[in-house]
This record gives sequence, structure tokens and C-alpha cells, in this order.
Amino acid sequence: MERLTGVVSRLVDVIDPPAAPAVAPNLEDYAAACAAFSWEQARARLDGLPGGKGLNIAHECVDRHADGPLRDKTAIRWLGCGGERLDISYGELAVQTSRFAHALEELGVRRGERVFALTGRIPELYVAALGTLKRGAVFCPLFSAFGPEPIRQRLELGDARALVTTPALDERKVAPLRDELPGLRHVLRTGRELDGLLSRQPGDYRIGPTAPGDMALLHFTSGTTGTPKGAVHVHEAVVAHRETGRLALDLHADDVLWCTADPGWVTGTSYGIVAPLALGVTMIVDEGELDAERWYATLERERVTVWYTAPTAIRMLMRAGAEAVGGRDLSAVRFAASVGEPLNPEAVVWGRDVLGLPFHDNWWQTETGGIMIATYASMPIRPGSMGRPLPGVEVALVRRDDEGRPVVRGGEAELVDDPNLVGELALRPGWPSMFRGYLGEQERYRRCFACGWYLSGDLARRDADGYFWFVGRGDDVIKSAGHLVGPFEVESALLEHPAVAEAAVIGVPDPVAGQMVKAHVLLTPGHHAGEPLRRELLAHARRRLGPAVAPRAIAFADALPHTRSGKVLRRLVRARELGLAEGDVSTVEQVR
Ligand code: ATP
Ligand code: MG
Repeated sequence: MERLTGVVSRLVDVIDPPAAPAVAPNLEDYAAACAAFSWEQARARLDGLPGGKGLNIAHECVDRHADGPLRDKTAIRWLGCGGERLDISYGELAVQTSRFAHALEELGVRRGERVFALTGRIPELYVAALGTLKRGAVFCPLFSAFGPEPIRQRLELGDARALVTTPALDERKVAPLRDELPGLRHVLRTGRELDGLLSRQPGDYRIGPTAPGDMALLHFTSGTTGTPKGAVHVHEAVVAHRETGRLALDLHADDVLWCTADPGWVTGTSYGIVAPLALGVTMIVDEGELDAERWYATLERERVTVWYTAPTAIRMLMRAGAEAVGGRDLSAVRFAASVGEPLNPEAVVWGRDVLGLPFHDNWWQTETGGIMIATYASMPIRPGSMGRPLPGVEVALVRRDDEGRPVVRGGEAELVDDPNLVGELALRPGWPSMFRGYLGEQERYRRCFACGWYLSGDLARRDADGYFWFVGRGDDVIKSAGHLVGPFEVESALLEHPAVAEAAVIGVPDPVAGQMVKAHVLLTPGHHAGEPLRRELLAHARRRLGPAVAPRAIAFADALPHTRSGKVLRRLVRARELGLAEGDVSTVEQVR
């Protein structure tokens, strides 16, 4: 079952890195970087707590710089929805986060206890995150758009002791739940209440001893495949955050990074807080939501140099059209990267043609804590491929049986080497940002490992040059007439057609083929759903993919369900199509 049918011929096979880059990439030669790499050396680049008292993320992100030459450098440039612009220096961030840590202590929040945040991207969120880590407590950010039930579930599972939120969110969503959450002792409301509490605290906090393996962050997965899991991360994750920021995002000291993800999703914490601050760069925090005009203006005005975003956002910009760029000068951006979902080749090429630089895909999960596979600045891009493993990370493809279980022979997982075959992406445990458990779900955690590998649940191929190609989530791949069909291939082919803005490809039961490939598509403005377009899209897909893989049916959708973190929820499209139970929908957001 591992042979993938109909690998699409590419729009563009390869995009070479610039011959004379303005900034020399941190990773200049992939093979040499892999050979020279060790996590011990990466660890040694960190400061460690004074007096050999261990490792703490907040020390590496804030205090280390505040006590040195970066004291007055802008750590966070915050852009408010109403046009506000606030710069917080490393020195100020140290004071504010110290106050927050003292406040937690005053309230009796103990080390290891959980502090949640439910706010938009406001400065207090960042102060709370780093202040909590200074206290030695565990930080867990939630999307402010969650409804009361997902909030309750997570606060309960995480045994929240304190929550930072806004008065409005408290009234609407949290206050009605308080009776059900006896462990939640403190709701810290931003504005007068929180300010009052903080203003009476001292501005310096001595971080207590923190072991590298102490729990630091709790992150819920996106809920794409089912009920979200609470992944536990520890302080030494900062080693990987910093290192991947340097190698995969190519962050240099004078960069301005804009990671567009909300901290409610792991990307918004690992690369929207920890990695940039650990590297002492300036990061942009935009409170606003995706809006093409606002985003282009932000890139131009803030002279963003490294931009980290997601395929759904890129496809929305594509829908807005090249005109939306409106003559903006985006020349400061020198590196653009994408994560979260398969990045269709069309989007990579669009980046090159419209923005002047292609998007670099990379792959990771809440569980991995940091980037594991990436297209590096110095490496030719193969549009549609995620790139190659991070130095120090061993990636393999594990062969699966028809039930989706790893094939084991003689106590070893059987690996897939043939570039035409598909296997489950597996990682050799040992990188510092690996999750240490699913909170309250020991058994589920245990099942993620087999024969010394962490099994990601994603299927992929590896070409002869070692580039990895995403095929689909284990649950999303389609078996049709004996062929294995990856939804990503089919979606990418459809997205090449100018009428298609977004696509979700699923398998629906078919008496002859077992499953039939069906596409749900969202159209770009100016295109009209109807028989002629349906026929045209079917023909286009057949031409690109061949008859065995091309969809047999196409449905025009008004909207496709996405998670809050911006992923197409194929399982929900499938459930709705087949009239099945919708399962966990706590993270769903409809995107038009
Ligand atoms: P859940 O685990 O709750 O179902 P989720 O897997 O979507 O949700 P995340 O940890 O936010 O939660 O997302 C990780 C997943 O996103 C990966 O396992 C993969 O399926 C997908 N993904 C991330 N980056 C890429 C990429 N570059 N290409 C393809 N898929 C990606
Ligand atoms: Mg997952």
C-alpha cells in the first residue's frame, strides 16, 4: 500500500538560492552542518542560570540580554488593532516579567503549577508567558477565539491555577465556568486589576533553580485529527528553539522577525516568543487578524526581514491578488518561511513572482516543539517539498501495514528507502524540544513510539537527494482502486488552476473502487460555480494527475472548515459529506 500513485510533474522543479545573498546564511553547507552538529554544542551557546542553577527559557530570552549590551534594544514591537505601536526593550521586558513572577509568588502560585492565558496578542500575553517561566510555573496559551467549552476542557485538563484574560473575555467566557473549575484560584484581568497587582511588585526577580527537564510549556495540538492533546514541553526546549531559529529561519542578530502565528498555536510560542528572543532579535507582534492590505503595510513599514507564516494565510494573500501589494516596497524581507500545512508549489512560485522571494517550507508538530525538516536559506527549493532534516535530527520513513501500524521485523521497525514509496515520518527521540507527555494521557503518549522511533502520524516520501515530500496525514490518505492517493498532490494540482483558492480532497466510499477521490473547492473571486467550471476543473486535474488519481467529483464550497491555527479540516469535510458525527469541533473556524 505504500506506493503513491501519480506523482505530479512540477510547475517548477527547483528554485536556486540567490547567488550572492545580502546576508550569508547561518547554514551555508548542509552536509558540513550535519557533520559538525551536536546538541551539546548547541546547549553550550546558551547562558544557563547564574550560579549553575540550571536552564530557564525566560533567562535565555530576557534576563540574559537585559544584563548585557542588548538592554535597550527593542525586543517586542507591538502593533495594536487601532494603529498603536509600542516598543518594549529587553531591559523593560525583564522588569515587567519580573513583576509578573513576583505577583505569581504573592498569589501563592507554585513552581510547576499551570498559568493559562486567554487573550488576544496584547503585550500582557508576552509578559505573562515569560513571567510565568521565571516563576518556574508552566505556561499554557489559549486562542482567545475559543468558545467556553474548549476553554473549560483545557483549563480542566491542565489543572489551571491562574488565568490571565481580559475583563470582556472573562465576563463572556470564563466567569460562567468558575464553579466548575475549583482549582482555578486566580483570574487576573488585564487593565486596572493586573496593572495594580504588578505595579506594587519589585522589578527584579531572581529565577529559582530550574532543571532542563522541568516542565515549562503546555501546548494543545490543533485538533485536526480529533480531540486536542496537551503536549508537555520542558525548559531545555529552548536549545532547539534557538538553534532552529538560527538554522531553519536563518535568524541573524539584526533581523526583524514577524511570525504571524498566535501563541495559542505552538508556532506562535516557539517562533513568536522563544526563538527570536533567545537570539536577541526584534520581533513584531501584530494584534490584528489577517488582512492583505494591513499585512503588506506591516511588512513595508516595519522593515521585516524574516517572515514566518502559514499556507492558509499565503493562499488568502494569493486570493487578494497581486494588486493588493499595491506598489509596497517589500525589499527588506530576505527570508520567508511557511509551516502548518502542506505548502502547495503554486504558493512557493507565487511568492517568488509577486513578493520577489519564494516561501521556504518547513515541517514540525506541537509534539516536536520545533522545526524538524526545513528548506534552508542556502538550499535549492524544490516546490512541494518540505526540505531536509535539521542537523542533529534523525528522520526516517517507517513502513506501515494496511491497518496503519508500523511493520516490525526482528524487533526493528522496517524503513522505507525507495524514493517511490511512502512511509510514516518518524524521528529518533533525543532532540531537546521533544514533548515529554500528553498531559493525563500516558497511554496515548506511549503509543507514539515504536522500536526507538517517535511516529508522527504523517505520511511522506523521500527523494533520492534526501528531500522529504509530504503525502498526507495518516488518516487523510485515500485508497482508491488499489492506489494510494495523497490529498496534498490532488489539492496542489487543483490550486494551480486560477479559479481555485482553497481545496480539501477526501475519499468517499465507492462500491467499485473502495474509495473515490472527491474535491471540495473554494473559488477565487470572479469565478462562478457551475457545470462548465466543474468540467474544466475535472479535466485540468486529469491532465495533471492522470485518471487514477484525479478527483471523480468536485463540490463547490462556500467555505471550508479550518482549525483556529489555520488548517483545512478534511475529517470534518468528510464527516459532513457522509453525514457522520462531526467529532471534536472545539478548534473549528469557518474561513470564507
Ligand atoms: P492534531 O494533532 O490535534 O490532530 P495537528 O496535527 O494539526 O492537530 P499541530 O501540531 O498544530 O496539530 O500540527 C502539526 C501537523 O501539521 C503535522 O503533523 C502535519 O500534519 C501538519 N504540518 C505541519 N507542517 C507541515 C508542512 N510543512 N507540510 C505538511 N504538513 C504540515
Ligand atoms: Mg497532530
